[in-house]
Amino acid sequence: MSESRHISADDLTGLNESFESQGATDIIQWAHATFGDRLAVLSSFQQAGCALCHLVHQLQLPLEIVMVDTGVLFPETYETIDKYQAMGLTISTLRPERSMEDQNREEGALYLTREGQERCCELRKVAPLRQIRGRYDAILSSLHRSAGGARSQVPVLTPDSELNLLRIHPLYNWPREQITTYIDSNNVIVNPLHAQGYPTIGCTRCTTPVLPGEPERAGRWRHLQGQESAYCRINPTDRGGSEVITVPTELYSKLLGKT
Ligand code: SF4
Repeated sequence: MSESRHISADDLTGLNESFESQGATDIIQWAHATFGDRLAVLSSFQQAGCALCHLVHQLQLPLEIVMVDTGVLFPETYETIDKYQAMGLTISTLRPERSMEDQNREEGALYLTREGQERCCELRKVAPLRQIRGRYDAILSSLHRSAGGARSQVPVLTPDSELNLLRIHPLYNWPREQITTYIDSNNVIVNPLHAQGYPTIGCTRCTTPVLPGEPERAGRWRHLQGQESAYCRINPTDRGGSEVITVPTELYSKLLGKT
């Protein structure tokens, strides 16, 4: 019987400190060497997510790209995903159990109220992502400190107890300008809505453009007028609290250098 160990955020402190001097490419290569085919990329194909997919593609790493399709994304988002697929990236799409039409018929337009929004995000984003629990030991994601708010202190590695894996953030210290410079210098494919006033892009029901001078996330859940959850709780960094994962002893030793 294989033994297992727990890993908390505190256990990762030393490893995270050692990563603070390393760049995105080094972190991605370390992750691939450490987790192999138990590593994937999580992307919603926004700017930073596209930069991350491009970096992985440039490194020629055969990593699966996981994305959650809520069923109500913008046509421009689907077109962007198609372009990445055409580049040869393998994209694994996770979907909610019901269509938005069925959900609306059975529960009403949940996204129109604060309580409903939390349930809708749970049904259409968080629950589909749980389908990957057990499939990977780690996922690369594009959270970065320059997004501010709950993400302003995001570490390189953080445990995700919902998925029982490590979240790895290679772009953790990229300022917004570095992301746009990387995209422009490397002709990275991005969602055309970014150039039309949408700094961040989610579902059609809950995303609007922002006006000059508005905060970056002002266009998310604007119709709830400040009553919304600031995030959909798909990222442990946004959930707050301390999370713990369980890993095989062999992986525990490989990561932390102890048994
Ligand atoms: S962003 Fe809006 S439509 Fe999308 S899952 Fe959340 S509440 Fe539902």
